[in-house]
Amino acid sequence: MELACLDLEGVLIPEIWIAFAEKTGIEELKATTRDIPDYNVLMKQRLRILDEHGYGLPAIQEVIGELDPIPGAKEFLDWLRTKYQVVILSDTFYEFAMPLMAKLGYPALLCHKLEVNEEGRITDYLLRQVDPKRQSVRAFQLLNYRVVAAGDSYNDTTMLKQAEAGILFKSPQNVIDEFPQFPAVHEYEELKAEFIKASEVHS
Ligand SMILES: [Mg+2]
Repeated sequence: MELACLDLEGVLIPEIWIAFAEKTGIEELKATTRDIPDYNVLMKQRLRILDEHGYGLPAIQEVIGELDPIPGAKEFLDWLRTKYQVVILSDTFYEFAMPLMAKLGYPALLCHKLEVNEEGRITDYLLRQVDPKRQSVRAFQLLNYRVVAAGDSYNDTTMLKQAEAGILFKSPQNVIDEFPQFPAVHEYEELKAEFIKASEVHS
């Protein structure tokens, strides 16, 4: 039995924080873990900036609702779901992802959660667990699934290593160079071919 695990941002949809920063013109929200390596420091800063600009969750969701999946993403996902059970493993938050998940046909998504008060102000966030992508793959393997995983960034590499087969998709060159053990492709047609290859070789 095989299961496909996909990263979300950068693979099926744009990076939400970057896209949100571009839509709203709030430049400081473009900071990523490359600028601020401590994720908790980064998240606190993001929530503070949202607050300062008066963005509560409904306003944020409205902006995110105007975003679209990466062209070809929906078709790729529809194809993948005819071959595998598919689970999206993401470090985003349900409250941010949902407007875009609607455009992808609501595939199964495991990610984090926000705490929002009655006025819609984001007061905190709840990370599901430490190293969530790798732990999810481990859990599926305990259920006797063989896992093929694809992602674009550093936060995917433990998942790719844990999976029986890992694929880099639309990764920046530094990630490709640092993890030469994974095939690296940039187009959905190539990703399809890698999934097929990963299945044929081992099953
Ligand atoms: Mg990503």
